[in-house]
Amino acid sequence: MTGLPLPPPPPPPRPVGPPPGPAEADWALFLDIDGTLLDLAPRPEAVVVPPGLAPTLDSLSRHLSGALALVSGRSLAGIDDLFPGRRDAAGSHGAEWRHASRVCTLPADWLAGLLPRLGRDIALPPGLRLEPKPCALALHYPRHPAAEPQARRLAEHLAALSPARLRLLAGKQVIELLPDGIDKGRAIERFLTLPPYAGRRPVFVGDDRTDEDGFAAVNRWDGISVKVGPEPTTARHRLASPAEVRHWLAALAPSVAGESA
Ligand SMILES: [Mg+2]
Repeated sequence: MTGLPLPPPPPPPRPVGPPPGPAEADWALFLDIDGTLLDLAPRPEAVVVPPGLAPTLDSLSRHLSGALALVSGRSLAGIDDLFPGRRDAAGSHGAEWRHASRVCTLPADWLAGLLPRLGRDIALPPGLRLEPKPCALALHYPRHPAAEPQARRLAEHLAALSPARLRLLAGKQVIELLPDGIDKGRAIERFLTLPPYAGRRPVFVGDDRTDEDGFAAVNRWDGISVKVGPEPTTARHRLASPAEVRHWLAALAPSVAGESA
């Protein structure tokens, strides 16, 4: 009796090296915030913006003709608290979006309908913290990793109750409910249809599972995708930590300045 033919061996892992530098003048730079630009903190409001980071971003933005946007799960208001100045940004994973000071926020009737029921007819498991955003709902369980299944069940229950089609997005100690069709990849691609982003090579740096949509989009555009941290990824480059990201960005800034001098 002959056995089934063996499947071909899996391809060797694709090398994932550090991102290139110096920056090219035609890059469009998209940056996640938590775990990418900033070290993670026990609570989102406890993060620290190191001195020098905002000037580095300003310098890079100037020399990329403004093609720099923050792409975060935080709300736009939360982004502005950390980085004042109404920068171009996608907040709430793209449910909020700001380009050249014009803001577009998805309607959130579904959220207004759900929120009053939480804690009233829908019990909140212990260890869970709700964060309503303009068009998303985050269920945080920091320091309570065992609450993940309960958070997921609650999110699935809420999604089933919502008249709008929602998706669940799992991140680090958080599950979020978002309108279907919203992700960081689509937010990045939306920027790429508009000046000064259009025609440029996208570069996206992120650290979480929620950033994989962004890596996939940037890979489709033959861009530069950069994963922060050791987890498996579809990104083509890797940096170890937010400190490495900040070092890389600081090294990019003068090189871009030098090109434009
Ligand atoms: Mg992040």
